[in-house]
Amino acid sequence: MPNLHASSIFSDEITRWQQAYGRNSLPWQNTRDPYRVWLSEIMLQQTQVATVLAYYDRFLQHFPTVGALAIAEQDEVLALWSGLGYYSRARNLHRCAQDVMALHAGQFPRSAEQLQTLPGIGRSTAAAVAAFCFGERVAILDGNVKRVLARVLGFSADLAQPMNERALWLKATELLPEDDLTQSMPRYTQGLMDLGATICTSRQPKCLLCPVQAMCHGAVSGEPEKFPVKIRKLKRSAQAMSLLWAQKIDGSVWLEKRPVKGIWGGLYCLPVFESDEDLRAFLPQGMDEQIKPLPAFLHVLTHKDLYLSPWLANFQLDEAMPDIGNSEMSTGGWFTSTQWPALGLPAPIRKLLAKVASV
Ligand code: SF4
Repeated sequence: MPNLHASSIFSDEITRWQQAYGRNSLPWQNTRDPYRVWLSEIMLQQTQVATVLAYYDRFLQHFPTVGALAIAEQDEVLALWSGLGYYSRARNLHRCAQDVMALHAGQFPRSAEQLQTLPGIGRSTAAAVAAFCFGERVAILDGNVKRVLARVLGFSADLAQPMNERALWLKATELLPEDDLTQSMPRYTQGLMDLGATICTSRQPKCLLCPVQAMCHGAVSGEPEKFPVKIRKLKRSAQAMSLLWAQKIDGSVWLEKRPVKGIWGGLYCLPVFESDEDLRAFLPQGMDEQIKPLPAFLHVLTHKDLYLSPWLANFQLDEAMPDIGNSEMSTGGWFTSTQWPALGLPAPIRKLLAKVASV
């Protein structure tokens, strides 16, 4: 295998390929504004480009600057994030904007090291912002890039082990461009991301179209899919939830804010109970006999399967919701069909509300 580092051959090939074949017209490209780049990087974590596009534009329309985001209400931020999932990203985004205003006079720090001190910015995100906006010579290592580098280098150590991951970071740093960093770092960083997303895919990589095929250990071995090696498996779990759909004759529904910690933290939701029995026990006497089951459904999260059983309960206009007796479940209220769409809601709850409202 050629010495990739010594000749800059690898970074040159990636950079040239990106210019000719990479993605160059996404809305967060062709800017060096760290606010826009940071926002896109956070949204793109765990989420496909096609999904992010609409959210990104909408978010920027509401919050065109980091200052505008910092002074927003958290509910407003969560409402715009609603449907993207992983809501801790949105809460951290908001806190990060507030820290940029309070601690950095409204300017994002210019180095990856400093960027990492902000909420929700990990090593790879910090490196992406520093490379794209400030041309810092610093390596990213998100899932796509890990795959490309592990294959090219024939890196066969288990990346679930932090020690091995650190070794790959070192290799990734050695491979970075060395000249004209302001121009080369954004192009190279984007090139690795694009290659991982479009050519060096986890299944059936298109090695024949790849600019680094001749120097790729994985391709030469004939089994590129053997890399990267990650032995730890995701542990899946399952959880059942009973949902109380309390509604009044005017169509308003009762929604309350979830505790900040745990699933759907900080979002509005139908009241959640561990079982149908718990839900019945909560209702005023007599109503527990009148509630109707709505079709149960499965919602799949990355680590968890949620089995959701909604129950419809009709409340009188002047009837109050009983005290849920859960101090963590902070605020609740009756929301009409013109009000609830503007709230931050978990995707399955939003879908359920929309479906039943349209019947
Ligand atoms: Fe990936 Fe194949 Fe390119 Fe190697 S040659 S980096 S395995 S697409």
